[in-house]
Amino acid sequence: MDNYKVKPGEKIDLSKINPSDKGDWEGKKEKGVEIFLQNRQKIVQLQEILYAEHKRRLLVIIQAMDTAGKDGTIRAVFEGVNPQGVRVASFKVPTPIELDHDYLWRVHSQVPGKGEITIFNRSHYEDVLVVRVHKIVPEAVWQKRFQHIRDFEQMLVDEGTTILKFFLHIDLEEQRERLLERIEDPEKQWKFNPGDIDERKLWNEYMHAYEDVLEKTSTEAAPWYIIPANANWYRNLLVSSIIVNTLENLGMKYPQPVENIQQYRVALKKP
Ligand code: AMP
Ligand code: MG
Repeated sequence: MDNYKVKPGEKIDLSKINPSDKGDWEGKKEKGVEIFLQNRQKIVQLQEILYAEHKRRLLVIIQAMDTAGKDGTIRAVFEGVNPQGVRVASFKVPTPIELDHDYLWRVHSQVPGKGEITIFNRSHYEDVLVVRVHKIVPEAVWQKRFQHIRDFEQMLVDEGTTILKFFLHIDLEEQRERLLERIEDPEKQWKFNPGDIDERKLWNEYMHAYEDVLEKTSTEAAPWYIIPANANWYRNLLVSSIIVNTLENLGMKYPQPVENIQQYRVALKKP
């Protein structure tokens, strides 16, 4: 898993990172799916403890090009968790009220509370991605944001939040096939957005902007993982493994029961 982690300051050339890479799992899809399903069970159990403990917070940030599988990853990896303690925050084109504030305002209000897992489907990174590619604000403005974002995330971590950031990496050909599927499959047509075709034309600009994000905002505190995402099963396996590993390393425990819990049996004796 550490192979996919971006070291702080590491130079990234996305054209050299294979979105179909399967590491040691080449040709082992069946086993990979099995392990993924086990991971999912573990996530359900670990989330239960996180919620009961009410001490730590987990923020999972997912960024990717259209069709790369943000929604699918969330659906697959978090299936079965207790909805009481897990929330998805999707960041769309900012509303007028959001635009009246600084770009972190809407984001900060959505971060997880104690005992909670929050998944960001897109995030404050859009403010150095789409905003940059479409020249929505001048460079002098977005350039400063890398530092803001590092500091903001560091603050969250210092205050007890664990942050994982996943970039789901697909290539143009995979996107072409997935967009065609959205045109052809009646159950996927609702997902087709003609705007995605325009965004696709800006692919290289986006890759360049993503490289900058990965280089400048992967920190010890809040690392980025580049997830090869052409194959859904491998994507799910990697993301779920990293989440399990992270949660297991938190050393969470169920809270201590009240003192002398056994004494309350008496009060529950049948008359
Ligand atoms: P989707 O995730 O496919 O529902 O699309 C959401 C859209 O909102 C994407 O096209 C994003 O680029 C766009 N979006 C998200 N955040 C921002 C932002 N801060 N500024 C401009 N557009 C944004
Ligand atoms: Mg979309």
